[in-house]
Amino acid sequence: MKLFVTGGAGYIGSHFIADALSEGHEVIAVDNLITSHIQTIERIKQVAGIDFAFYELDICDEQGLRKILEQNQIDAVVHFAALKSVPESISNPLKYYKNNLTGSMVLFGLMKTLKIHNIIFSSSASVYGSSHKSPIKEDFLLKPISPYAQTKVITENILRDMTSSIKEFKALNLRYFNPVGCHDSLLLGESPAIESTNLFPVICSVASGEKECLSIFGKDYDTHDGTPVRDYIHISDLVSGHLSALNWFKNDKKISSINLGTGQGYSVLDIVNQFNSFLDHPIKFELSPRRYGDPGIIYADNSLANEELQWKCSKSLQDMCHDSWNWYSRD
Ligand code: NAD
Repeated sequence: MKLFVTGGAGYIGSHFIADALSEGHEVIAVDNLITSHIQTIERIKQVAGIDFAFYELDICDEQGLRKILEQNQIDAVVHFAALKSVPESISNPLKYYKNNLTGSMVLFGLMKTLKIHNIIFSSSASVYGSSHKSPIKEDFLLKPISPYAQTKVITENILRDMTSSIKEFKALNLRYFNPVGCHDSLLLGESPAIESTNLFPVICSVASGEKECLSIFGKDYDTHDGTPVRDYIHISDLVSGHLSALNWFKNDKKISSINLGTGQGYSVLDIVNQFNSFLDHPIKFELSPRRYGDPGIIYADNSLANEELQWKCSKSLQDMCHDSWNWYSRD
């Protein structure tokens, strides 16, 4: 397929393009590099051994985007471009609404005008909020609690309305749980633009000595060891979900929202112990009180992804921890 990828220099976009090229798809990618680096584009080409067209462009730039889309007969859009920090979206909501919603509106408007009818949208488990009992199913009520999550719900709703109003338009919202790990080559991985508060990067920074200690928020949850449980998914499994999703456009459905998670939850202490099993020194941690609004357990029901996308995860927790550390500690 000829794929148009937004946010192609980012963490997930770069891994997707490398694997999509290797599978024989043609890729045209854009990114304004607001949270990523131009070097990633060369690395994608190196990993895949295949060239592709890349444009440094903000997707809010309608004229620029139109020029690229008009020149190509696109089969499907894979829309990764967005800002993604939940804390930053709370302190600066307008930045998130402006970038994530304007970018999507411009892109979707051009898709309508130019009759590009298939889109995969990067949504997020954050659309469910924090009050549901896991496993989380796709038909649960959406209760976003941050501006970031709101932008995902609003974009999903816009896509739903477009599938109702344009006969041929098809949209697939993929709701990611917590992607971790890196490419086998160690050429691609996550390099957050602002310091990440996510568990894996924080554990790696403690392991490397950059941070003194990991704070674990909550030791009295109703989980096997009292610490919070989440669903982590290896980046290569997440990407293979997208590649399977490209076949979804051949079915009769107009729109679906599908969880991409392993369906298995791990506690913070499970992850710490897994890292400790191969690190020279154990991870220092302190048990702190719960953070307001943090639920005890969140993991996906991924049966819809298994059925509709014929997709399964293959990486273990060990792979996720090893690869995250190998990426973090690379030369
Ligand atoms: P990332 O920050 O690494 O990549 C996003 C890319 O989009 C960056 O390269 C950035 O420069 C680009 N971008 C942002 N706004 C743009 C604009 N207006 N025009 C052009 N390019 C723009 O993030 P990621 O982890 O690769 O996430 C990709 C998508 O997946 C995002 O939509 C994110 O919300 C979603 N998602 C990510 C996670 C996660 O934990 N990584 C979880 C759930 C959902």
